[in-house]
Amino acid sequence: MAITRRRLTNERVTKIPASGIRRFFDMVSGVEGSISLGVGEPDFVTPDRFREAAMRSIKEGRTKYTSNYGIVELREAIADHTERRRGIRYDPKNEILVTVGVSEAVDLALRATLDEGDEVILADPSYVAYVPGIILAGGVPVPVATEEAHDFRLRPEDVERAITPRTRAILLGFPNNPTGAVLEASDVAGIARLAREHDLLVYSDEIYDRLVYGAGHRSILGEPGMKDRTIYLAGFSKSYAMTGWRVGYTCAPPAVVEQMMKIHQYTVMCVPTAAQYAAVEALHSGEPEVQRMVAEYDRRRKVMWQRFNAMGLACFEPRGAFYCFPRVSGTGLGDEEFAARLFTEERVVVVPGSAFGARGTGHVRACYATALNKIEEACDRIERFVKRLH
Ligand code: PLP
Repeated sequence: MAITRRRLTNERVTKIPASGIRRFFDMVSGVEGSISLGVGEPDFVTPDRFREAAMRSIKEGRTKYTSNYGIVELREAIADHTERRRGIRYDPKNEILVTVGVSEAVDLALRATLDEGDEVILADPSYVAYVPGIILAGGVPVPVATEEAHDFRLRPEDVERAITPRTRAILLGFPNNPTGAVLEASDVAGIARLAREHDLLVYSDEIYDRLVYGAGHRSILGEPGMKDRTIYLAGFSKSYAMTGWRVGYTCAPPAVVEQMMKIHQYTVMCVPTAAQYAAVEALHSGEPEVQRMVAEYDRRRKVMWQRFNAMGLACFEPRGAFYCFPRVSGTGLGDEEFAARLFTEERVVVVPGSAFGARGTGHVRACYATALNKIEEACDRIERFVKRLH
């Protein structure tokens, strides 16, 4: 029997923990009567027209590799869409790259721009992939705590304190997963000013841009001079109910897109062709669908948020994305234990807040992209569970 004397795996990868969300996702599958508020995924099936566009492309035999950048129709539709929504025109030829979800776009952006030891400032808590992505790219994550008292916004004054000579970039993920926070106009302007003053890049993950309730979403792209230093990341999973299709994209300066494209080319070549046609259709005819789904999320959001507060789990009012982030520390349980026991005793899945960073500790994330009757039932169970703890 051959015994390897060297470690089988790469040290950097080995040190990264697997996602705290997937662990809870795997828990629920196959457990009868369970309700998952765990994974951040729309419960809606992808609208008919988008699915039909994909099927048409397959029937017509459009089954080959596409351009590494993505099909021209999609890049043009992305350019038009971004211009409509952000007032900024990107060139479909060399400023747009279609990626395997925003997941790949985040990874490519980090790998294409960071050098060993470069620091990246980001909000804590934040989406689970950011910190591992920065580490895998050789960078150093610099989490900046966001506070409930300040609506979980990433405030320019806190960002400024974290800037050092090694700071290379700021990673913005707003509307925020897991808190549901959005940035105010003054935050966006202040962060843009810091980026300009300190010559920093900004990665702006705006995957939840359409899922906002009340106050609109402010993009950093709207700030003076930011097109030249922003790597804009967006996609179809959330707003268009297309998680399984795996389509996202980046808009960025040509020099950055060129480097991102090389990694993409050597690792995935292109996004599956049929999925790209579905995405074109989403941009052409999907607006009413987006509005219908957002209105429904808003109804669910209010119910879940109010129920958490009524049962004594203080919950900040989420203004974007589709998550509530109640504080559970008052129950006497840590967030990990709360989530584990809630599942064992009541078959409801939530994600421990610490999966999203140290500042998430003492909270859990509950996704409201699920049917209202299920949300009500889950809240009844959580309430019963919380009462038992007192
Ligand atoms: N960015 C954020 C903030 C997310 O919450 C997610 C998914 O949950 C992603 C990116 C990845 O999305 P996808 O790869 O499905 O486009």
